[in-house]
Order: sequence, then C-alpha cells, then structure tokens
Amino acid sequence: MEWIDLRSDTVSHPTPAMREAMAKAVVGDDVYGEDPTVIQLERDAAALFGYEAGLFVSSGTQGNLIALMTHCPRGSEVICGDKAHIFVYEAGGMSALGGIMPHTVKVQADGTLALDDIVHAIRGDNYHFPRTRLVSIENTQNSAGGVALSPTYTQQVAELAKRHGLKFHIDGARIFNAAVAYNAALPELAAGADSLTFCLSKGLCAPVGSVLLGSATFISEARRVRKMLGGGMRQAGVLAAAGLIALHEMRHRLHEDHANAALLAEGLSDIPHLRVLSQATNFVFFWLEESAPITPAEFEKRLQAAGVLLRPYPGYARKYRCVLHYWVDRSRVERVIEAVRGALA
Ligand SMILES: *Cc1c(COP(=O)(O)O)cnc(C)c1O
Repeated sequence: MEWIDLRSDTVSHPTPAMREAMAKAVVGDDVYGEDPTVIQLERDAAALFGYEAGLFVSSGTQGNLIALMTHCPRGSEVICGDKAHIFVYEAGGMSALGGIMPHTVKVQADGTLALDDIVHAIRGDNYHFPRTRLVSIENTQNSAGGVALSPTYTQQVAELAKRHGLKFHIDGARIFNAAVAYNAALPELAAGADSLTFCLSKGLCAPVGSVLLGSATFISEARRVRKMLGGGMRQAGVLAAAGLIALHEMRHRLHEDHANAALLAEGLSDIPHLRVLSQATNFVFFWLEESAPITPAEFEKRLQAAGVLLRPYPGYARKYRCVLHYWVDRSRVERVIEAVRGALA
C-alpha cells in the first residue's frame, strides 16, 4: 500500500503470502459442500473458539444478518446497543429482510450495555408485545472507540440471556483485538454465546470474508439462510485460503497495531490545536480544535500531500478516527505524527 491510510482497517490489502495461497488454493463447489479450503477454514475457526461449526460468509454484515434471521422469527425483537453496528451500519437489514425489530439500549462509555438496561428491555409475556428473542453485543465496540469487552462481562450477559430464555449473539468483527486487549483465550470471549461472527478482513488483511460460528444445528439452518440471501458461493476456497492465513498467522500480530495506536496517541498528544480523545485497541480518536489555524478540509489536504489519508468521523466535522493495521508500521506512524505536526505548524 502506497498511502498511509488510517481511515479504517477495512482498507488493508491482502499480504503477499495471501495472494500466493489464493493462487494455489484447492477448491470445489462450496454450495455442494465440496470446497476443502472452505471446509478447513470453517472447522479451524469453530475449533479455535470452541463452537461445533462455522459458516464462511461474504461479510460481517451478512454474517450478522444470517445469525439474526436464524435466531429470530419475523416480528420478534433483538436487544442491542444504540450504537451497535447491526443497528446503525447494516442498512436496516434485520428489519427489511428479516422482519426483526431492534430494541436499543444505551451503549455505555466502556462499550457495554448495562445489565439492568438489558433486563428492562425484555418484553413481558403479553400478546400486545413483540417477543424478545435475542441479545446482541459487539466486541470490540466500534462506535465507542474500539473498546474491548471483557470475558467477565460477556459471561454476565450470557447468564442473563440464559436466565431469561433468550439467545445471545456476539458481533465479534474485531474479537481478536479484544482477545489481545484482555490477553484472553478466544473460547473465554465466546463462552455462553449461541453465535458469534468475526471478520477475516480488516486488521487480519483478508480481502473478503467473515465467519459465523454456532452449534451444528444452528449452522445448518444458517446455511439455508445464507443461500436465501444469495450468499452461497462456489469455488470460494480462493477466498478462504486468504482467510486461513488471517486466522492462523495475522491474528498473532495484532498487538503491534495496539502498540502503534498507543504510539500515535502519545505522539499526537503534544501537538497544539489537537486533542486526543481516546485510544483503545487499534483505534485512536482526536479532535481538531477550533483554535487550529486551518480548516478541517485544509488539514486533510495537507496530510494527503504528505501521503496520509484521514477523514472526519461521520457526523462530525472535527473528530477524526485513526485505525491502525498491518500496512501502517511503526515508522509510518512516526511519519504520520510528523505530517500532522507539519500540517498544523
Ligand atoms: C466491520 C464491522 C462489521 C461487518 O462489516 P462488513 O464490512 O460487512 O464486513 C460488523 N460489525 C462491526 C462492529 C464492524 O466493525
């Protein structure tokens, strides 16, 4: 990657090792269940988290939608965060395609949903009400600044869901970053959840793909929903081959992204006209102060001239989110800090 692109970790390109594995992948028709590379990815992913089965899907959005549609009959409700990706950033798919109602509760600053809020959101047994079917949490919590949720909290939600007869889903798009943040084993972060999705793209650098995990029965039903949504893929082993490298190699280097995020936050913190708002996992947020000598547009233009891509966070003119990933190494982080300092000098 030529640019130092901090807009998101979704911009990460596949690594040379991935391109090579993709070229050599052994493939078959995955709708017939005959692609050995896809089968291996699904099995390895399930084993890593302690689930019975996995399903390779085209995106995190598709994985979440399939999970919701498999758990929730039409007209039922999912309790989720008011900043949850499934509520804000998935084009209303659960309602448009699944007939499912989101029932939102506030996402706290630490990325959690308060347990009391979840309990209050559960509908009573009254035929006026929709039926509550599912609780969904997000780890790491994207819109709360990439904060990681702990295994203890996850366990508490699992117990709450069980006590109230609800299913429990984890949108774990960046669950591997959460595992690094808590130095936690993957099964600990999934324990008690009926389903979990994670992304092979983003920080793990695969070009395409996510995996949905659950029981064998759940995944068998989910496979049907995936087909219904047009997500049945044929020689998808070409993509799964990159996914296997993401799963087995790339996740072991995510601590570097967290260290680089910390380095960036520290480097930005003493630059005038700029206020670092937060740093968690591979995310850094900062605010361009009104005292800055240039407009946000000019700021971005100057950074771009120095080879750095940054955009304001949606809905804010002066708030910036920087996301660290494989293609922004330590020396590039140092270049970013200098570029920002230079732009505001
Ligand atoms: C990126 C992301 C997803 C899935 O996004 P896709 O672009 O569809 O792969 C889901 N949840 C969260 C929290 C995400 O950050």
